[in-house]
Amino acid sequence: MLFDGKKAIGVEYLRKGKLEQVYARKEVILSAGAVQSPQLLMLSGVGPQEHLTEMGIEVVQHNAHVGQHLQDHLGVDFLYKCKVPTLNDELHSAFGKLWAGLKFIFLRKGPCRLSVNQGGGFVRSSPDKDQPDLQLYFSPVSYTRAPAKTRPLMNPDPFSAFLIGYSNCRVKSEGEIRLASKDPLAAPVIDPKYFSHEDDIKLMLEGSKLMRKLAQTEAFKDIITEEIRPGKEMDSDEALIKDIHSYAWTVFHASCTCRMGPDADQSVVDPRLRVHGLENLRVVDASIMPFMVSGNTNAPTIMIGEKGSDLILEDHR
Ligand SMILES: Cc1cc2nc3c(=O)[nH]c(=O)nc-3n(C[C@H](O)[C@H](O)[C@H](O)COP(=O)(O)OP(=O)(O)OC[C@H]3O[C@@H](n4cnc5c(N)ncnc54)[C@H](O)[C@@H]3O)c2cc1C
Repeated sequence: MLFDGKKAIGVEYLRKGKLEQVYARKEVILSAGAVQSPQLLMLSGVGPQEHLTEMGIEVVQHNAHVGQHLQDHLGVDFLYKCKVPTLNDELHSAFGKLWAGLKFIFLRKGPCRLSVNQGGGFVRSSPDKDQPDLQLYFSPVSYTRAPAKTRPLMNPDPFSAFLIGYSNCRVKSEGEIRLASKDPLAAPVIDPKYFSHEDDIKLMLEGSKLMRKLAQTEAFKDIITEEIRPGKEMDSDEALIKDIHSYAWTVFHASCTCRMGPDADQSVVDPRLRVHGLENLRVVDASIMPFMVSGNTNAPTIMIGEKGSDLILEDHR
């Protein structure tokens, strides 16, 4: 972002390796998502003074909350071998994949036109909770996840199996986005600090126990032949917690890193999504959530976009 004092006046960007600038007649709208919106603010001199100075960036506006309060949902899957055919049987072989692709292209039918999660819901981890705090997933498929730092294609297992899983709805841990360097092409540091609040691991443990309870219901019990993951040897709270720590992974719902609030000392943008302390600069994306929504983030982010566009039009009428 380019500033004239405290006023955002345009942006600078690379095109075909050449640095170019474009100037805004009315305002600059930052909409780069919960990882890159705070990164771009910090690179432009808006963020925690100490961190910017350490990175050698001139401070335009100090705000300790830029990049802070990062929240995300975490998911855990339980995989079960079963007696009935699942999508594994249809999709494991190369021919099966080809057939599914052709069926979709020519008939608009088959597994490719379905969501991978074919069932789900929201439940309370215990009756004393006044709101649902776990989101559930069911997929008639199982696959072994790609090892860390590699990205091979996921392949359904060569036997009939399915997965049930959960993610935590009300996250309390907060992480942060920091700059690794003042180079705009360098990735920022994403430090999610998962489970830094002890309530989060307690809730995940309830989720893992619930998966086992579900597997014992009439509907599942008679078709399950084996728990593939985490495995029946993981039968104590301690073992399940260890499994959660090693297996739980992001549901890709990063948010809250430029959070909205009326108080400039507590938030990054005001209720009209304007960056506190600056003129003509708004943030409109998942980063402005004051705290994490309890379910999927895509639709709420679209609503943020819709509301943001109304605010922009109102302010420039
Ligand atoms: C793999 C994955 C699966 C997901 N699945 C689901 C799901 O099933 N359901 C659900 O509800 N949500 C899902 N989400 C979450 C959902 O996609 C996000 O919450 C939502 O897209 C956030 O919108 P956003 O506008 O804040 O950010 P984004 O959608 O990330 O948009 C930011 C845009 O800014 C661009 N950008 C960033 N930096 C720069 C730069 N320096 N210059 C130019 N452009 C830049 C990016 O390319 C991107 O287009 C998923 C996310 C991922 C990553």
